[in-house]
Amino acid sequence: MITAPLVRKIRKRGFLGDLRESEPLSRHLYLKTGGLAALFAIPESTEDIIELLEFLKLEGVPWVLLGGGTNVVFANGGYPGCVVRLGRRFARMKVEDGSVLLTGAAATLTGAIEASAAYGLAGMECLAGIPGTVGGAVFMNAGTREGEISDVIREVRVFDGEDIHWLPAEKLGFSYRSSNLPETHIILEARLGLALSTEEEVRSRIQVLKEKRKETQPSGLPSAGCWFRNPEGDSAGRLIDEAGMKGVRVGNAQVSEVHANFLVNLGGATTADFLTLAEKVRGTVHKRFGVMLQEEVRVIHE
Ligand SMILES: Cc1cc2nc3c(=O)[nH]c(=O)nc-3n(C[C@H](O)[C@H](O)[C@H](O)COP(=O)(O)OP(=O)(O)OC[C@H]3O[C@@H](n4cnc5c(N)ncnc54)[C@H](O)[C@@H]3O)c2cc1C
Repeated sequence: MITAPLVRKIRKRGFLGDLRESEPLSRHLYLKTGGLAALFAIPESTEDIIELLEFLKLEGVPWVLLGGGTNVVFANGGYPGCVVRLGRRFARMKVEDGSVLLTGAAATLTGAIEASAAYGLAGMECLAGIPGTVGGAVFMNAGTREGEISDVIREVRVFDGEDIHWLPAEKLGFSYRSSNLPETHIILEARLGLALSTEEEVRSRIQVLKEKRKETQPSGLPSAGCWFRNPEGDSAGRLIDEAGMKGVRVGNAQVSEVHANFLVNLGGATTADFLTLAEKVRGTVHKRFGVMLQEEVRVIHE
């Protein structure tokens, strides 16, 4: 479907970003699994995005958007269409009116938190240590027990396939680890309303939360964060742990010994290993507690 002439045509339309054919997805996914993306596009301007998506639509090529790749797996170990990831020009940040952080969607969440601390602005500390981009965090409504990104989002600028416009937070339908943004909408930037504080105070809160994270989450091994959503009023990690699944393996995919809701890559595990392991976990938890766990990780089928 993706051929060299097709790629040449995209360049001819004036696409200025990076275009890569047969790109290994493991380079872009935290879990380090993957196969190949037939095409991998890194637009560097809104014109790039508009041109690219118009062209892909015309040619009937499917596409999918990737942020930092921290919460995504490709079910079939690859993608036959175009994987789109916003380029560095979508990672700019500035402070407006003293306490509003305007940040590009491709900025890392860590970078945005670092900027908020440097300006002595409070409100994002609860997100410290969550990997990925601002765009992915908004789409997933990333958060911890201490708070979620939706607590500070004022509005986001999105491309909806036709127009670019600002959407206020109330229109984003935020709930536990989700928003109501269709997968065909691309968040370009976000305005976050923060509170005036001091750099010292913000940094000290970040430090405390990072330490806590270190104690409770596995570090050093590739994972996709929590694999399953917490069922209402319960914890997926507790259920998996009590079902005796810690340490269980399929190939080199393993239920973490540290946090049972993290599936980790011990080295060279495939997406199929992870999906089989996840089914095993789901089946065991269902048998034991009658609870059917749902994925938090985005599994892309194509
Ligand atoms: C070690 C580890 C720890 C983690 N801890 C936490 C945690 O404590 N709390 C938590 O909530 N999550 C956690 N996660 C999960 C993950 O980091 C978050 O969900 C993160 O916000 C996803 O951001 P991303 O940029 O990596 O998005 P990706 O994983 O690349 O994509 C996730 C979804 O967002 C969409 N998306 C990405 N960018 C955009 C955009 N610009 N516009 C529209 N849609 C977009 C994608 O299409 C996809 O559907 C953890 C993950 C890991 C690996």
